[in-house]
Amino acid sequence: MAEPDEPAEPAEPATNAEWFERAGRVIPGGVNSPVRAFRAVGGVPYFVARGEGAHVWDVEGRRYLDYVQSYGASILGHAHPDVIRAITQAAVRGTTYGAPTAGEVRLAEAICERVDGCEMVRLVSSGTEATMSAVRVARGATGRDRIVVFEGCYHGHSDGLLAGGGSGVATLGLPASAGVPKAAVAETLVVPYNLVPDIGDDVAAVIVEPIAANMGLVPPLPGFLGGLRAACDRVGALLIFDEVITGFRVGPGGASGMVGVRPDLWCFGKVIGGGLPVGAFGGRRDIMSLLAPIGPVYQAGTLSGNPLATAAGLAVLERLDDAVFQELAARADRLAAGLGQALRGAGLDVVVPVVGPLVGIFFGAEPVYDFSGAKASADTGHYPGLMHGLLDRGVAVAPGAYEVLFPSLSHTEADIDRTVEAAAQAAAGAARPS
Ligand SMILES: *Cc1c(COP(=O)(O)O)cnc(C)c1O
Repeated sequence: MAEPDEPAEPAEPATNAEWFERAGRVIPGGVNSPVRAFRAVGGVPYFVARGEGAHVWDVEGRRYLDYVQSYGASILGHAHPDVIRAITQAAVRGTTYGAPTAGEVRLAEAICERVDGCEMVRLVSSGTEATMSAVRVARGATGRDRIVVFEGCYHGHSDGLLAGGGSGVATLGLPASAGVPKAAVAETLVVPYNLVPDIGDDVAAVIVEPIAANMGLVPPLPGFLGGLRAACDRVGALLIFDEVITGFRVGPGGASGMVGVRPDLWCFGKVIGGGLPVGAFGGRRDIMSLLAPIGPVYQAGTLSGNPLATAAGLAVLERLDDAVFQELAARADRLAAGLGQALRGAGLDVVVPVVGPLVGIFFGAEPVYDFSGAKASADTGHYPGLMHGLLDRGVAVAPGAYEVLFPSLSHTEADIDRTVEAAAQAAAGAARPS
């Protein structure tokens, strides 16, 4: 008697929808970071099969001009040859050792050379770790617990820093996260962006995105950052610039170099990993010297200073000269101007802020200064229609109204012009309230 047929191997999914369904069975929401699930814009996320330069291709073979660029981690564009070469050369020598390496020293030097006032850094593996550790060292340095954060800024997903957060927290409309103990946020004070708060001498640190890029793009008003510097100095609190997005992006010295205000501590991520998991926090030598093993503030990481990641990050920083920053900014200016014109042409009131290579889109007639303005823009409900209209035309922007656009060095003028054309067509649809 013949045995019953072996059950056939399930076929490999062919479509985004099939992958998303399969992902949802083993990964909560099918994603490893919530915004990726398209909840705020509806529909099914594209599953990326590969990326090259300004483009990604999904598992169905569709090509998208990509303005997500891993939320800014890929400033040169996907699979840049310099970065791939650096990673490949590093990989054959082993991928992690648990002992110090020359690559870590070189990346730390490259960061300190470029950021005026940043004398020492410690490398970590994400922006979240960078901000969490910077806050710890600030608390260690001051002997105080209280921290001040600004509504709509995002500093990663650690307990004490999630309150009032932008990016995915805002996108999902979460008041805060479940699972964060009251005690963890009891010492976190959330205040509006672009207003200098009145702080007391119980404050360890004020942490801020010097150019806010997780509630759309909100530049600091004149006097805001200088006012924070003065307020911190008055009470002996430390000023922390979270430059995980702006560092090595808005210019060679990041936002602090651009605005001429020097914090006590910086947080970096995204660009400095060249698309691999890296973060860093750094600052004044006396403060950073409080870290173990030379000081009492503990902080550590098995994969910290990973050789592939430091090689990739170094390759990127070496590529980012003044000419590159100028080119990036010129592309972004062209994109912002074109988008503004296209969207207004379709009858939408928009403001399209641009700082260096960062571009935001706000729906409304007035410039946005804080989270309430950003939320009013998101609440118009125009973003999902525009985002899907662009996606249908082969242009990928982030699936959340609080994210910014990240044109890379690989985006050509022709790419920008094609984007503007697609936006004009998509806006015609988005202008109709859904
Ligand atoms: C992305 C981001 C973080 C968190 O970095 P992760 O690598 O996602 O942990 C922190 N701060 C800012 C300003 C960011 O944009």
